[in-house]
Amino acid sequence: SVRVRGAVKHYGATRALAGIDLDVPAGQFLVLLGPSGSGKSTLARALAGIERLDDGEIKLGEYIVSTRRQHLPPERRDLAMVFQDYALWPHLTARGNVAYALRRRKLPAPDAARRTGEALERVGLAGLGERYPHELSGGQQQRVALARALVASPGLLLFDEPLSNLDTDLRERLRVAISTLTRQAGTTAVYITHDQSEAFALADRIGVLDSGRLVQLAEPETIYHRPATPFVARFTGLAG
Ligand code: ATP
Ligand code: MG
Repeated sequence: SVRVRGAVKHYGATRALAGIDLDVPAGQFLVLLGPSGSGKSTLARALAGIERLDDGEIKLGEYIVSTRRQHLPPERRDLAMVFQDYALWPHLTARGNVAYALRRRKLPAPDAARRTGEALERVGLAGLGERYPHELSGGQQQRVALARALVASPGLLLFDEPLSNLDTDLRERLRVAISTLTRQAGTTAVYITHDQSEAFALADRIGVLDSGRLVQLAEPETIYHRPATPFVARFTGLAG
């Protein structure tokens, strides 16, 4: 689960987060939707621990990970991230990239190998484990990134526009893979996009951000039929 209270973040004079309160119950798939510059990535980076909040508090599962005074670094948070640029290690094979996510688990080698193989299989890359990133297509690389995020069974999966570099057809298929695999694992997910159709296809609930504020948080149906503000109506009314 995720609990955010009063999250504030400034970059100089820019107020990226203007006091965000957010709850994501365990196992729920939340999509954060909002225009460019509304604070989506800032919020994701704060959850991940890459960015420190100026004010507010973040709790992940049982643990308070950020307060004004205390900040748990990313590697100590029980989460995994998938971004637009998949950031695979170029010198490691697909298998090596996925296994890398288990390095701190100190698993016996056969267990780590088995879990890595299973993760590659789940994303449909069983046969391509020995390939290096430059020998894989963009969609295959993104599947490696997805396997790497899933392999350690994190408590939270963070996605920041993971599909925006891919063509429509591939986006559709990977979207289904992300939804299926996340839900099968029962993992809490926060998924960022500015694509309305993607948000409505994926979300248990949608949070709409506008200028660093969460203006509505509700089920897709409610967002669509009963938008809380004219901004929400305008922004989510635009088809795809
Ligand atoms: P996009 O859809 O374009 O990715 P976003 O909703 O993810 O947008 P953020 O990246 O969170 O938006 O940015 C929120 C605001 O904070 C923007 O005005 C942005 O210019 C500013 N900002 C973000 N990161 C920095 C930074 N490192 N330094 C200065 N300003 C920043
Ligand atoms: Mg962003």
